[in-house]
Formats: sequence, structure tokens, C-alpha cells
Amino acid sequence: MDKLYILGAGTPTPTESRFGSAYVLDIDGEKVMFDCGPAATHKLVKSGLWPTEIDYLFFTHHHFDHDIDYPCFLLCRWDQSIGKENTLNVFGPKLTEKLTEEIYGNNGAFSHDWKARINHPLSQKVYENRGGTLPRTPPKANARDITPGTVKVSKKWEVVSDVAEHVQPYLDSLAYRLETSENKSIVFTGDTQPCKSVVDLSKNADYLVCMCWDDQEAMNENGEFYGQCGTEGAAQMAQDAGVKNLVLVHMGPNISQEKNKIVAEDKIRKIYNGNIIFSDEIKSIDLWSK
Ligand SMILES: [Zn+2]
Repeated sequence: MDKLYILGAGTPTPTESRFGSAYVLDIDGEKVMFDCGPAATHKLVKSGLWPTEIDYLFFTHHHFDHDIDYPCFLLCRWDQSIGKENTLNVFGPKLTEKLTEEIYGNNGAFSHDWKARINHPLSQKVYENRGGTLPRTPPKANARDITPGTVKVSKKWEVVSDVAEHVQPYLDSLAYRLETSENKSIVFTGDTQPCKSVVDLSKNADYLVCMCWDDQEAMNENGEFYGQCGTEGAAQMAQDAGVKNLVLVHMGPNISQEKNKIVAEDKIRKIYNGNIIFSDEIKSIDLWSK
């Protein structure tokens, strides 16, 4: 059974149950990660996954609630490796290559860490005991800045991207659609306001994993409707695209409260005919079961 692991279903505002964005898809045993927000590496392990299992990571954009755990993920994945794993492939809008080099590179912000682990006998011993053969090699990742279009085609799935309208021109943002070789599909909106490019990308998808910051009326009143979706925006995009399941993520502190969720669900139901799923962190969803 293919699965969606919800690691981070929150926003930049931390709450007890939510903080930032991160997801892993398990497609016939292949693990594909989308975004790497706060504590994503630890939440991944809490979900029963392991960093070295992840060979693909896609960034929607480079706000910290979507990428702050990237240094941790890169270093942990490298540290836990025994030198035989696949090289990590990372895709994302502009800044993805720069960030990777600045973290991981020979003069990167964390190069002191991997240089110490390569050279100190203690770290070498731990590495050998884990099954590695010396010498340890420096970390490596294939990072690529991408623009809308086909991003990656593998045997079991392919990923295409299109523009998400968020905080341009300061940061580029992308939404992603993953289509399996069995013609099942799931879209990650990342952060976006309702827009045609994301609706088109989501056409007839089985799942739309869509951001939902708050109740739309509240957002319209307080002016927080720019560059992001609330209840109405998420519902309208899901309805316009004809998706089967709407998974609400990136839920802010208000809409995360149970009583507000009930109101939100009612409002969404008035616009969207499909199945509504309110996400929770460290939970997985069996896909294509509906
Ligand atoms: Zn954002």
C-alpha cells in the first residue's frame, strides 16, 4: 500500500501539535520527501522511517518552515550512512543549490562537523562498527534549482511542477504533482494563494495536499489572504480541479483547534464535493484506498 506520511502539518507559528511542513510519500517502497521543515528528520524517525531511505527531496520554497531542518537531514543522512547508499537528489526553486553548498560544501557552515567525523578516530570507529569501510568520504548531494515542468521521471513515478503564487518576487514557489506508474496522482500545493497554475496541475488528482492557514472570513477581515489559502481557497481549488481527496495541511493555530475544525469542515463542504481529510503530524494516510 502506498502511503503519505505527514511529518509537519503546521506553519511558522509553532503549536504543541504542529510546526512547519514536511511529508514523505512511500510509492511501492520508494520514499520521496517534500519539504523539510522544523524537526523533519526526527519526525521522520518517529514515523518509522529512516533518513538513508530517502533518495529524493523536493522543496516547494525556501521559507524556514519548509526547509530549516535541511542541514540536520543532510548531516544525519550522511552520518548514518555506511558509504553504500544512493546519493540524495534534491530539487527546488532558486536557492536550493546555494543552500546545499553553504551547508554541506567544503567551506560550508557545517563542514567542521563532517571534517571532524571523517578524521577523528572515535567517529571512524563508530562508522566501522556500523558497517562502514574507511576512509569516510565527504558528504555529497545532487541539488538542482528547477523551474516549472517535468522535474524527475523514475520507474515508479514522475514529478512535474508548476508555479505556486506565494511571496514572489522575494522567493520562488512551486507546487508538485507526483504521478505513479499506475496512474495515481497526488499534488502538494506548498504555500500558495488560489491560482490557475495549481488548479491545472491538480486536475483530477487523487489527492490534493493543500495549505489552509485559517478560516477564510477571518483572513479576509484581517488581511492575511494574500499569497496563501484559507478554507474557501483550498475548497475552491479542490472543487475546480476535481480532486477526489483534499488533505488540509499547513494549518495555523486557530484552525488547528477542534472547535474551529468543525466549523471549517462545514464551510469547505459547501464548496467541495470530495473527501476532506484534516491532517495530523506523525500520522500516515493509506493512499488510493478511496
Ligand atoms: Zn511560505
